[in-house]
Amino acid sequence: MTKLDEKLEPIMAEVFRRNAAEPEFHQAVREVLESLGRVIAKRPDYADDALIERICEPERQIIFRVPWQDDKGNVHINRGFRVQFNSALGPYKGGIRFHPSVNVGIIKFLGFEQTFKNALTGLPIGGGKGGSDFDPKGRSDAEIMRFCQSFMTELSRHLGEYTDVPAGDIGVGGREIGYMFGQYKRLTNRYEAGVLTGKGLSYGGSRARKEATGYGNTYFVDSMLASRGTSFDGKRVSVSGSGNVAIYTMEKVMSLGGRIVACSDSNGYIVDENGVDLDLVKEIKEVRRERISEYARLRGTGSHYIAGGSIWDVACDVAMPSATQNELTGKDAKMLVKNGVFAVGEGANMPSTPDAIRIFQEAGVMFGPGKAANAGGVATSALEMQQNASRDSWTFEQTEARLETIMRNIHDTCAATADEYGAPGDYVLGANIAGFVRVAEAMRALGVI
Ligand code: NDP
Repeated sequence: MTKLDEKLEPIMAEVFRRNAAEPEFHQAVREVLESLGRVIAKRPDYADDALIERICEPERQIIFRVPWQDDKGNVHINRGFRVQFNSALGPYKGGIRFHPSVNVGIIKFLGFEQTFKNALTGLPIGGGKGGSDFDPKGRSDAEIMRFCQSFMTELSRHLGEYTDVPAGDIGVGGREIGYMFGQYKRLTNRYEAGVLTGKGLSYGGSRARKEATGYGNTYFVDSMLASRGTSFDGKRVSVSGSGNVAIYTMEKVMSLGGRIVACSDSNGYIVDENGVDLDLVKEIKEVRRERISEYARLRGTGSHYIAGGSIWDVACDVAMPSATQNELTGKDAKMLVKNGVFAVGEGANMPSTPDAIRIFQEAGVMFGPGKAANAGGVATSALEMQQNASRDSWTFEQTEARLETIMRNIHDTCAATADEYGAPGDYVLGANIAGFVRVAEAMRALGVI
C-alpha cells in the first residue's frame, strides 16, 4: 500500500469510522486518496473547505423495503438502495444492480467510482448508483416484472431527468429497464424518456448503448496498445464474465483481429483455443439464459469447461476482467504476468484487487482502470439522454463514432495527466487525478453545499 499524504490520513480514518464494515468502499476511497497526494502538493487549495472530505461523503443515501410476490403467492422482502453521490457536474447518473451480494457498502463504492468516471467522460453527469439484494437467477418473467415494479414504486420519488437517471448493471438489462420505465411512466403520468437509460429502441433507447461498455473498453485498450506501437491483431485475449460487458467486449476485440480464448460465469470458465464462438455464447446467455458450461457441451471438440478455478490461469496477451469487483487477485495477477500478459483493461468496476494492480504495474503491464476503461457505457447513456432531450434518434454509426472519440479522449487525458504528475504510463493515477480535478473545480465554484 502506498503511504497517504499526512493531510489525507485523517480523511481516510474518518471514512473508516463513518462507514464501518464497508471494505469495498474503503478500498475505492483509498485508491483515489493514494493518487491525490501529488495533487495537493501542487495545489494545496484543493484541500481547503473540506473539499476532499465532501467528495468522500455521499450527498444522499436512500434505503427502502421492496416487497413482492412470487408466482406461488409467497411474499418476499428485499432491500433497495440508491446512493446519490455527487451532483456537481450534473444529475446523479449510474446503474442499478440486482445481485444477492448487494449492500450499502457495495453501492457506495460503485457510486464513488462513478463520480470520477462520469467526470472523465467530459459530459454533464454526476455520480450515483443503486440496486437491491434481489437474486434474479431462476425467477420467471412475471416475478422479475413484479419485483421491478415494486422497486420502482419507491425509487420513482427520488428520480427525474434533471435529478437522478439510473441505468442497468449486473442483473439489470433491457428487460428490467423496460419494466422499471413502464412503472415510472404509470406512477408519474409522464413520458419522461430521459429518466432511465439503457432503454429499448422502441421506446427511446439509444443505438450502441447495449454494446457501449464492452466496445468502449476495447477502444481504451486499443489506444493503450497503440501507444506501444501494437494492436489487438493476433493477440490472445481472455474476458471474464459472459454478461453484457463481456459479450460486447468479445465482439469488438474479434472485429479488431484478437482471438478470444476464454470467458466465464460465476460457476466456471470455458477455454476455446480455436477462438470463442460468440454466437453460441449469445445464444446461451441472452436467449436460453443458461450456464456457460453449456458452451463446451454444445461446441464439442477444441473447447473445454472448468468448474470453479480461475480464468486467469489461462495464458493470454490481454486480460479484460468484465464480471465483478475483486475477481482478479494478486495470485491471479502473478499467474497472468508469468504467462506473459502485457495489457489489462477493466470492463467491470474494481475487478482487480490493490495487490493485483501493484503486481501489474511493477511488471510494466499496461493497466487501464475501470473508472476510465469502462466509461463507454455511461458516456453512451449520456448520449441517450441527449437524444431524448432533443427527441432525436441517431444512427448506430454516428453513436459509435461519438463513443470511440470519447474513449480515445479519456485514454489521452489519463496518459497526459499521468505525465504531468510525474508518473508516465500510470493510468490509475491519471484517471483518479483527471476525474478528481473536474469534480473539484465544479464543487469549488458551487460553494459549500
Ligand atoms: P451482467 O449481469 O450482464 O453480467 C455479469 C457477468 O459477471 C455474468 O457472467 C455473471 O455470472 C458474472 N458475475 C457476476 N457476479 C459474479 C461473481 N460474484 N463472481 C463471478 N462472476 C460473477 O452484468 P454487466 O455485464 O452489466 O456488468 C459486469 C461488470 O461491468 C460489473 O462490474 C458492472 O458494474 C460493470 N459495468 C457495467 C456497465 C454496463 O453498462 N452494464 C457499465 C460499466 C461497468 P453469473 O451469470 O453466473 O452471475
